[in-house]
Amino acid sequence: MTDTSADLVILGGGSGGYACALRAAKLGQSVVLIEKDKLGGTCLHRGCIPTKALLHAAEVADSAREGDQFGVKSSLEGIDINGVNSYKDTVVSGLYKGLAGLVKHGGINLVEGTGRFVGGTTVEVNGTRYTGKNLVLATGSYAKSIPGLEIGGRILTSDQALTLDFIPNKVVVLGGGVIGVEFASVWKSFGAEVTIVEALPRLVPAEDEFASKHVERAFRKRGIKFKTGVRFAGATQSDSGVTVSLENGEQLEADLLLVAIGRGPSTANLGYEEAGLNMDRGFVLTDEKLRTNLPNVFAVGDIVPGLQLAHRGFQQGILVAEEIAGLNPRPIDEAGIPRVTYCEPEVASVGLTEAQAKEKYGEVQTITYDLAGNGKSQILKTKGAIKLVKATDGPVVGVHMVGSRVGELIGEGQLIYNWEAYADDVAPLIHAHPTQNEALGEAFLALAGKPLHAHG
Ligand SMILES: Cc1cc2nc3c(=O)[nH]c(=O)nc-3n(C[C@H](O)[C@H](O)[C@H](O)COP(=O)(O)OP(=O)(O)OC[C@H]3O[C@@H](n4cnc5c(N)ncnc54)[C@H](O)[C@@H]3O)c2cc1C
Repeated sequence: MTDTSADLVILGGGSGGYACALRAAKLGQSVVLIEKDKLGGTCLHRGCIPTKALLHAAEVADSAREGDQFGVKSSLEGIDINGVNSYKDTVVSGLYKGLAGLVKHGGINLVEGTGRFVGGTTVEVNGTRYTGKNLVLATGSYAKSIPGLEIGGRILTSDQALTLDFIPNKVVVLGGGVIGVEFASVWKSFGAEVTIVEALPRLVPAEDEFASKHVERAFRKRGIKFKTGVRFAGATQSDSGVTVSLENGEQLEADLLLVAIGRGPSTANLGYEEAGLNMDRGFVLTDEKLRTNLPNVFAVGDIVPGLQLAHRGFQQGILVAEEIAGLNPRPIDEAGIPRVTYCEPEVASVGLTEAQAKEKYGEVQTITYDLAGNGKSQILKTKGAIKLVKATDGPVVGVHMVGSRVGELIGEGQLIYNWEAYADDVAPLIHAHPTQNEALGEAFLALAGKPLHAHG
């Protein structure tokens, strides 16, 4: 057995782990980063980036199909899925190369192999023990399935869905959350018949009800079918298809079933329990500085309960590196993390939903600004709205948007929420005309009691 020591050992090179490594190295720490697969983790190889490439290809397909709405003669000849995959893979491999270069030039010791936490601040990889003054656990998450529903053949998770070399004619998507609606959106744009099954009463159930209503309306118009408030009962597959049974007795026939019911923490069989880590249903519990119950052991990313988002992992990784360096960083406000669902139309939000705000503040004030009043949205022919929530006599506590491209607007939304801005602070700020960003400005004018291009 050989031993290696460093200031910091990190187990897992996904968003949380590599961000921590890069920041710690910049702060002068010697860093060992252990990764069993590819640097970049889920986000780069099986998550954010490849799905957004597919969604962009889907947008191009829709533009070709709908050209005549804009007086442009175009039609969609078809989707060359190999071409789409090669575009997607080129984006991923370019970013991967860039990341590998950053890690290498940052002087980080990248150890390739499967690590196991063996107690203290030590991880063992293929007979070598790596001990840090501090240890960060960042082993990420996996796609969950329903007990008894085996993944394989025509029953997929997002991992397999991203590598398909054909476009299904008919798909059932189990789960109307972020991953489910994004794949539903892509497949519909690529020409498939799609049905989403969601046990909760609405699509994107983690969002404000306003967003669900707009997405459902838009999906209906796009011909994406959905069944909400219905529970899945089982699925059987044959050479020719998959039959999905629902608890209400209904049966759905499809080529594929995508299981998109959420992600579980990748923490089993890694020595975590044996080392005495405080855990809850597989998640590693931490305080607001991401410290676990074990001395000098931190956890970041999807293994920590909360929003499973890449940018949360990045920020947690940075926070831990700065905490170790004694910079006393500010804890992260989970509600201040922007959330974007990249289906068509997009959903973007930050802060509290109206229901959450009412629970916290009692009475709240809301305003909804319809994109019908926004010039750029009319030019794009997108429908949707912006809803703002503010505590009575207090700051803005929630920003919620639905419409094509609104994900790009959430940067301003998160500044407003995180700076605890009042409607009167934002209303005088000028937004360029004609942009969709202007819709956010108009919503703030309305919230401050001086609406301009707003009806009613
Ligand atoms: C389809 C899909 C779409 C998504 N889209 C978005 C999006 O648009 N925006 C967004 O913000 N988030 C998105 N996410 C979520 C995002 O990918 C995750 O929140 C993020 O990757 C979590 O980072 P992490 O570092 O915690 O874990 P991961 O990225 O999962 O990284 C963990 C790493 O640890 C490694 N590892 C695990 N165990 C060991 C071990 N024993 N030894 C060595 N290495 C190990 C793994 O190989 C992996 O590389 C999406 C996820 C999916 C699945």
